[in-house]
Amino acid sequence: MSQRVLLEMDIQGLKEVVKGYGYPAYRGKQIWDWLYKGTFEITDMKNLPWQLQERLAMDFVTGIPSIIKKRVSKFDDTIKYLLKYHDGSIVECVRLVYRFGTTVCVSSQVGCRMGCTFCASAKGGLVRSLSSGELLAQVLTVQRDTGKRVSNVVIMGSGEPLDNFDNAVGFIRMLGHKEGLNIGQRHITLSTCGLVPEIIRLADEGLQITLSVSLHAADDATRARLMPVAKKYKIEEVLEGCRYYAQRTGRRVTFEYALVEGRNDRPEDAQRLASLLKGMLCNVNLIPVNPVEGSGYRQPDRSRVREFKDMLTQRGIAVTVRREMGRDIAGACGQLKAGYIKEGNIGN
Ligand code: SF4
Repeated sequence: MSQRVLLEMDIQGLKEVVKGYGYPAYRGKQIWDWLYKGTFEITDMKNLPWQLQERLAMDFVTGIPSIIKKRVSKFDDTIKYLLKYHDGSIVECVRLVYRFGTTVCVSSQVGCRMGCTFCASAKGGLVRSLSSGELLAQVLTVQRDTGKRVSNVVIMGSGEPLDNFDNAVGFIRMLGHKEGLNIGQRHITLSTCGLVPEIIRLADEGLQITLSVSLHAADDATRARLMPVAKKYKIEEVLEGCRYYAQRTGRRVTFEYALVEGRNDRPEDAQRLASLLKGMLCNVNLIPVNPVEGSGYRQPDRSRVREFKDMLTQRGIAVTVRREMGRDIAGACGQLKAGYIKEGNIGN
């Protein structure tokens, strides 16, 4: 029988497990406390009887991945991790430091099947989805490694979280547990390439997280060249889903727009984008694209980015330009992993 994952379980579930082994329920809470305090080896859970430790170690793994590579940016304290789960699956995870606190960007799947042409994670397709506990394990791993409390989480690494809906939502609820990490939903952002039925389903979940939608173009033909998902859902359908999300949750939707030189950075693109978003509860995050080997995509120069931003601002759209962080450590999604595999290591 395969081993179960301790981090999948809530306090009640852990209590049931230990009771099933003939131990009092409070032992379950002790296991929970060890995990959330960063003790990841069952044999290091010192206040548990050794017989219980042995029994647990036979039936369970913690779900915590091992750190197989770590790069620290010289410029801004960004740390990029390559993590390996017990089945050999490898994902990336990034720690970013902002004025308002520490953010962890987690991966929701091993690989991704959405096929965005600018994304290194898309190259090998989808390997598997991560469970809620495995997602949580990324945050706990970073917290233990850095010794600093994680205050914000963005689900924006490899994978499409809405293609792994139940685990992503389960993870969001786990993050908020008062006796766990206690990260409020307003400190959590979920990023999607725009799966419309799932955006609507997410709106009905009654969560207060920020929804971030990758738009990347202001017309369907350009968007479809960058993101195959655009062949399934037209921009107008995506926006309709986002309006529903904003109306149900009262939350402002963020639109991500990766600026690619000569593809979507023209003045007419900015004009079209502004008229699409007119009157919506939203803001736009412009991201000068991170060059991915073989994609042929280049970043527009700074003045081009500024012009694009100004055109949106003049038309009443709230805009930010994403600060580039960790560029010296392969900051874009999937790049560290791609490099690791290229170096001759085996990875999923
Ligand atoms: S950008 Fe996101 S949705 Fe698109 S292929 Fe990469 S990981 Fe998947």
